[in-house]
Amino acid sequence: MAAVNSQRVPLIAGNWKMNLDHLQAIAFVQKLAWSLKDARHDFDGVQVAVFPPFTDLRSVQTLIAADKLPLQYGAQDVSQHDSGAYTGEVAGSFLKALHCDYVIIGHSERRQYHGETDEIVGAKTAAAIKNSVTPIICVGETAEDLEQHGPSAVPVAQLRTALAVAGKATDVVVAYEPVWAIGSGQAATPEQAEQVCAALRAVVAEALGDEVAAATRILYGGSVKSSNIAGFMRQPNVDGALVGGASLDVTEFTSIARFKQHVGV
Ligand code: PEP
Repeated sequence: MAAVNSQRVPLIAGNWKMNLDHLQAIAFVQKLAWSLKDARHDFDGVQVAVFPPFTDLRSVQTLIAADKLPLQYGAQDVSQHDSGAYTGEVAGSFLKALHCDYVIIGHSERRQYHGETDEIVGAKTAAAIKNSVTPIICVGETAEDLEQHGPSAVPVAQLRTALAVAGKATDVVVAYEPVWAIGSGQAATPEQAEQVCAALRAVVAEALGDEVAAATRILYGGSVKSSNIAGFMRQPNVDGALVGGASLDVTEFTSIARFKQHVGV
C-alpha cells in the first residue's frame, strides 16, 4: 500500500460520543481487543484508539493496563482551564493522570452545541499539549460553507487560527471532518478528502514547520465504514480515520482497522 507515508503510522480512532457506560465500555474494549488479536492485527502498523465518555476512562485505562492490551485511548474533550470554578469541566492534568494518549478537540458537535470557537479550540489544544496529551484537532465545513466557499477555505481557516492560538507544538493530529458527512451516510469522496487534507498539511507546515507537517497525521472523518476506508487510506495525505457510528460495532470497527487486508488496497 504505497500511499501510506512511512513516517506516519496510520491511526484508526473510534469516537463513541455519548454511548456506552463504563460497564459496557469494559465489555466492548475486551471484545475489540480479542477481535483484532484474532485477526492477527499489526498494532504497530496501524494504531487503534477508542474515545469513550469521561466516566468510562478510568475503567478503560485499568483494563488496558491490567491486560496489556495494545489499544490506545483518549477523551472527547478537555477544558481550556487548568483548574478552578468551571463546573462540569475536565482538566488536561486529569487526562494526563489517566494516561490518555489523545484528546479530541473541536468536534463539530462541540462547536455546534457548545459554542466552541476556533480560539477556544486553540486554547484547548494548548491545554492538551501542556499536559502531554496529543490533541486531535477537528475541523470541517458545513454544507453551506461548501457551497459558498468551496471545500478547503473553512477547515484551513479553522486550523490556522487554532494553531496560532495554541502556539508551539510538535505532536498534533488533525481530523478533517466535513460536517455534512458526519452521521449522514454520505462520506466525502477520497479525492475530496485528499484535497482538503493536503491543504491542512500545508497549514501545519506554515504554523509549525515542514518537519512537524511531514510527521503529523491527518485523519478523515465522516461516514467512514469498512466498505469505504480503503479508498481514503490510498490517498497520500490521509493517515487514518476518525470514526463515529461505525466505531460502536466491534466487527465493523475491526474491519476498518484492518483496511490493509481489503481487496484492491
Ligand atoms: C464523528 O462523529 O466524528 C464521525 C465521523 O461520525 P460518523 O462516522 O458517524 O459519521
